[in-house]
Amino acid sequence: MSIRMDVDFVLGQLGCTVSSGDLPVHTPIDGSQIGSVKTASPAEIDAALNRALNAFLAWRTLPAPRRGELVRRFGNALRDHKADLARLVTIECGKPISEGEGEVQEMIDICDFAVGLSRQLHGLTIASERPGHRMMEQWHSLGPTLIISAFNFPVAVWAWNAALALVCGNSIVWKPSEKTPLTALAVQALLDKVLADFEDAPDGLSQVIIGARDTGAALVADSRIKLISATGSTEMGRAAGQAAAARFARTILELGGNNAAIVSNKADLDLALRGVLFSAVGTSGQRCTSLRRLFVHDAVYDDFAAKLKAAAASIPVGDPLDTAHLAGPLIDENAFERMQSALAEANEMGARIYGGERLDRPGVYARPAIVEMESHAGPALRETFAPILYLFRYSELNDAIALQNSVGAGLSSSIFSLDMRECEMFLSASGSDCGIANVNIGTSGAEIGGAFGGEKETGGGRESGSDAWKGYMRRATNTINYSNALPLAQGVRFDV
Ligand code: NAD
Repeated sequence: MSIRMDVDFVLGQLGCTVSSGDLPVHTPIDGSQIGSVKTASPAEIDAALNRALNAFLAWRTLPAPRRGELVRRFGNALRDHKADLARLVTIECGKPISEGEGEVQEMIDICDFAVGLSRQLHGLTIASERPGHRMMEQWHSLGPTLIISAFNFPVAVWAWNAALALVCGNSIVWKPSEKTPLTALAVQALLDKVLADFEDAPDGLSQVIIGARDTGAALVADSRIKLISATGSTEMGRAAGQAAAARFARTILELGGNNAAIVSNKADLDLALRGVLFSAVGTSGQRCTSLRRLFVHDAVYDDFAAKLKAAAASIPVGDPLDTAHLAGPLIDENAFERMQSALAEANEMGARIYGGERLDRPGVYARPAIVEMESHAGPALRETFAPILYLFRYSELNDAIALQNSVGAGLSSSIFSLDMRECEMFLSASGSDCGIANVNIGTSGAEIGGAFGGEKETGGGRESGSDAWKGYMRRATNTINYSNALPLAQGVRFDV
């Protein structure tokens, strides 16, 4: 079966009919066109935002556990269609099928989490300094929530946001990556089926708007959108964040990473090797949490670097639908050009480069590159969304941590060490400055239970677990006087 027929079949299984349009869709598996979709016109966007606003006004009045029931049913629909949706994810963005399945599992997991959360959106009661008074806080629904997503996690990132936003009482508008619109339409079709059987769901509760960056920018600027949760490059976040700030809209920004790991001379080196490899070459270096910089202690550097180079060279790269391959293609030609230009820059700086060649086959397949650097500079200071791992020697842990923290991004980090003092130092306030800091696992592969996000140029947003739900709601502090006096706070007198 051709890939295009495969796509048509899977879309049919997911109950999704796509009318062809002006935006061609390609698969990175071999670069062929697998369909086309219609981008939204300004009038369609306007109508969609009116629907989203009306839907919000109705949805916020529904008890949260009932909203959770919708998310529970959607999670079950995902369970029923996991294999089909995972296949579409792999075809559209090129990640290995096991990672495609993992991505859909992550959607199911966050639905489960959100269902429980729908009975736990609680505030505090607070001791009042005034007699006969009580203070409390409540969390209320916020408003239509815009979800902008990137190509590399075409559906999971939406689900992190959507499941929480829905139980929090918000309507949702999804602007997926223009590189992965089919998965978005398929997920919306699955949700539409669930919504059709859910009598309390207002029209327009969840909508997809297809378009590129201009469409995203128009949505960000629209005052009907109360929360913008945007995932993508730091460049995108800078533009979207500034536009949102100009109208004081709330944002959750999940942007680029330049993640690092430290391999100590006190590490379990076999375990470290596996952890480093998965983080560096998984999803062909196209995860926001992909490992890009590695600091290895001088005493173990030569041995570890040799093993790493050999292991990276033997990673099976190829068709991501074939489970024998651990790495698939890059998303497009531009990604490969950016990879080559970063490698050329490193080469000019005198780095030693191993791997990085393109495979002679349709699609853009590259071998992972291991780059031994003399200094922490040049392309190592920025995110290149490709499988490049820069290697550095260190002798003092504090120096390695300082270098790790010296880049713009602050998403993920890890240390491999069996020395408790080193690990605790790394996790302490003077250790890693990232939103994610791990011990004896790599930088990628987060679970949904924790709050996910990063500091500095990664945007500061938090999504998914822990108390990230608070970002989707507004907090009201209430003071209630049940006495017949009117004492003022701080002893202020106003006697009339
Ligand atoms: P991208 O920035 O090119 O696009 C992301 C999304 O933003 C797309 O939907 C795009 O249409 C939209 N967009 C672009 N410019 C916009 C603007 N000015 N206003 C509104 N919307 C705009 O990113 P990409 O190439 O799809 O994805 C890769 C990037 O995403 C990497 O930098 C990666 O680190 C980052 N990422 C971050 C996370 C995270 O959670 N921190 C997760 C996944 C990906």
